[in-house]
Amino acid sequence: MPKIDSGLAKLLALVLVAGSLTAPSATMNVSRSAVARGWLPVIPGPPVGEPAGAADTGGRCADPAGTWLGMRWRNELRWRINEQTIPAYLGDRATVVASLRSAATTVDTGRNDCGLPANLGIQESYAGRTDHKAGVTAAGGCGERDGHNAVSFGRLEQGLLAVTCIWWFGGKENGRSVETDVLIDDTEGLFFTTTPADCSSRWDLEGTVTHEFGHAFGLGHVAFAEHGALTMTDGLPDCSTAYRGLGLGDYLTLKQQYGTN
Ligand SMILES: [Zn+2]
Repeated sequence: MPKIDSGLAKLLALVLVAGSLTAPSATMNVSRSAVARGWLPVIPGPPVGEPAGAADTGGRCADPAGTWLGMRWRNELRWRINEQTIPAYLGDRATVVASLRSAATTVDTGRNDCGLPANLGIQESYAGRTDHKAGVTAAGGCGERDGHNAVSFGRLEQGLLAVTCIWWFGGKENGRSVETDVLIDDTEGLFFTTTPADCSSRWDLEGTVTHEFGHAFGLGHVAFAEHGALTMTDGLPDCSTAYRGLGLGDYLTLKQQYGTN
C-alpha cells in the first residue's frame, strides 16, 4: 500500500438535497457534483418539479443510461455502521442495519428489477459496528479521511438527505478508491424502513442508501427529467420503495466497470 499523502487525496461529494417540502410532489433533488482538488463545495441545484419519469412508469428496465465518476475500488470495500448515531425514531437498530446492509449488497451483487443476473461480484463486506463517524460536514462537504469506511447518521443542513464522500488516488479517470463515507441526515421523520400508511414527504432509507452506495462504488448521476426511473437519478420521489434495487442503466454501468462476465 502506498503511503497516504493527503495532498494526493481528492474528494468528491455527491449529495441528495431535499427539495421544497411544500411542493405538491415532494421530490428529492441532487446538487450538481463537481470534482476538485481538496475540499469540494456542494451547490444545490434547482428543484426539478414534477417527476417526469418516476420509477412506476415502467422505464426502469428500458433505460440503459448511466454515468461513471472515474475512480473505482481495486480491493474489497469493508465498511461499518456507527449504530449509536441511528436516530431513535427509526426504531429497532437491527432493522436499520439490515436496510443499510441490503443496500450495499444490492450494489455489490448487482441486484436488479430487470431479471439480469445478480453476479457482478464487486467486493464489499460489512465489517460491523464502529465508533467512527462519516467524514462529511453538516454543510455537505468532505472532511478528513480517517482510514475507516463509515456510515453514520448526523445533522445535515439545507435539507440534505445524505452525502457520500469518496477519497481516491491517481487521476479521477481510473483512480483507485481508498475510502468512502456516507452521512445520512438524522432529522426526525425524514426516512422510513417500512412505508407508513399516511406517507408524505418521507423517504425510503434503503433506496436512498442504495443510491449512495452506487456513488461509493463509482456511479454518478443521471438526470431526473430523462432518467427518473433509475436508482442513480438525481431526484428521488418521496414515499417510494421502487429504488431499492438497480435499474438497467445502473446495472450496466456497474457491470462495465466491475463485471466479470
Ligand atoms: Zn446522488
